[in-house]
Amino acid sequence: MGGYGSGRPSHKQKAEDCRSLDVNRLQREGCLTNGRAGHWVWLRNEEEVGRIGYSSNNGRLNLDYRVRLYGGDWESVSQSICIHQASCHYGGERPYFRCPGIVNGRHCGRRVGKLFSGGKYFLCRHCYNVAYSSQSELRYDRMLRRANKLRTELGGEPGSAHWIAPKPKGMWQRTYQRKRFEIQWCENQADRLFLRKFSHLLSKSEQAFLFD
Ligand SMILES: [Zn+2]
Repeated sequence: MGGYGSGRPSHKQKAEDCRSLDVNRLQREGCLTNGRAGHWVWLRNEEEVGRIGYSSNNGRLNLDYRVRLYGGDWESVSQSICIHQASCHYGGERPYFRCPGIVNGRHCGRRVGKLFSGGKYFLCRHCYNVAYSSQSELRYDRMLRRANKLRTELGGEPGSAHWIAPKPKGMWQRTYQRKRFEIQWCENQADRLFLRKFSHLLSKSEQAFLFD
């Protein structure tokens, strides 16, 4: 699709993170720099499986994309998301999304690190949280609890919206790497469980992607 910044830099993301936006990755790739515009591309086996146009303007990230729900017609969607810069625990600033979701007539506004596209819009996981099946909820909680425990053990703060703390003094590099890896694994599992729950909102090709 056309739209923002055709011919501008594209940022490619591995498909396992399909249809989620991570504010830290966007920041690292320079996508949040004022005036920047381009495409964010999701890949699967080196093949493009989705893309959205983005532009950054005065603390807002504007998204432009097309969706097709329930096999209906393609629809153009524009979404504007506020980026909040918060003082960081370890000095400096770090960005958060302000979730633009409106649930039961209330604006969500949560400060989150990730937004998901479970339907038409990119929203935080709370907004998509209709009711977990008890089983996946338990597993989901277990994964996040484990990740948060490791995060605090390393001296950081719980929640995937935060950076993982730097290596504590006296800890082996290898031990530290293993803990980091486990945190990321647990959080990826939690993301997958979350996305599965909302698979009914995804298209057939997106479902195929999730379940293989
Ligand atoms: Zn929300």
